[in-house]
Amino acid sequence: MRQPLDSYEKSGILFRETMSSVQTNLSEIHARIESAATRCGRKASEIQLVAVSKTHPPELIREAFEAGQRAFGESRVQDALPKIDALPAGIEWHFIGHLQTNKIRKVVDRFALFHGVDNENLAIQINRIAGELGVTANVLLEVNVSGEVSKFGFAPEKLPAALENLAPLPFLRIPGLMTMAPYSDHPDEARPYFAKLRELRDRLATETGLPLSELSMGMSGDFEQGIAEGATIVRVGSAIFGSRG
Ligand SMILES: *Cc1c(COP(=O)(O)O)cnc(C)c1O
Repeated sequence: MRQPLDSYEKSGILFRETMSSVQTNLSEIHARIESAATRCGRKASEIQLVAVSKTHPPELIREAFEAGQRAFGESRVQDALPKIDALPAGIEWHFIGHLQTNKIRKVVDRFALFHGVDNENLAIQINRIAGELGVTANVLLEVNVSGEVSKFGFAPEKLPAALENLAPLPFLRIPGLMTMAPYSDHPDEARPYFAKLRELRDRLATETGLPLSELSMGMSGDFEQGIAEGATIVRVGSAIFGSRG
């Protein structure tokens, strides 16, 4: 959209300030990941930072990329695809939203990992379409550990049967599980939910023989709690890119 010149100039000024802060924010997050890992005897290198870039423009993503960030998370197909097309091929894209089955074909070969796979039919359709396109899709099963009715995800008691059905699918890999803690102003309140996801994973891994080594848990407000409970992937948006307004 064309804008009047003075508004371009204004946004240009704002933009330069935001760009420099992305780099600063990223190094702060790295330092916090490092100390959270150290506090619980883990290595920061075991933890992948996914920079959640949803709602933010390609320029900010590029700034983070130039600061060394490689994995980015998007939650809407129609916003993500133009960014993927516009940005360097070296970016590893993660889909963190809820995928509609009618959009699978558009995205199945564009994302390294789908975090929010929350029902069996979706996973079955992803496998089918991945097979048609000759790719393998990596998915994390989203678990509703809190049991809140407003939350997406498999009920924990449904997971054993779901894994039994999904694990044999040839074009689907399930490297692990993902969850979101209930919203809270107190990050420590997230910990029991993250602990539950880890315990569930440990039990399922024993029962099924699948490693399920990845645990995607923790966002800007609670990624240190996620790390303390074994997160291997944290999804951090606003603490890197600023608020989404
Ligand atoms: C938006 C989003 C995030 C990032 O949230 P922040 O609080 O901005 O860090 C992480 N995970 C999911 C699934 C999201 O939708």
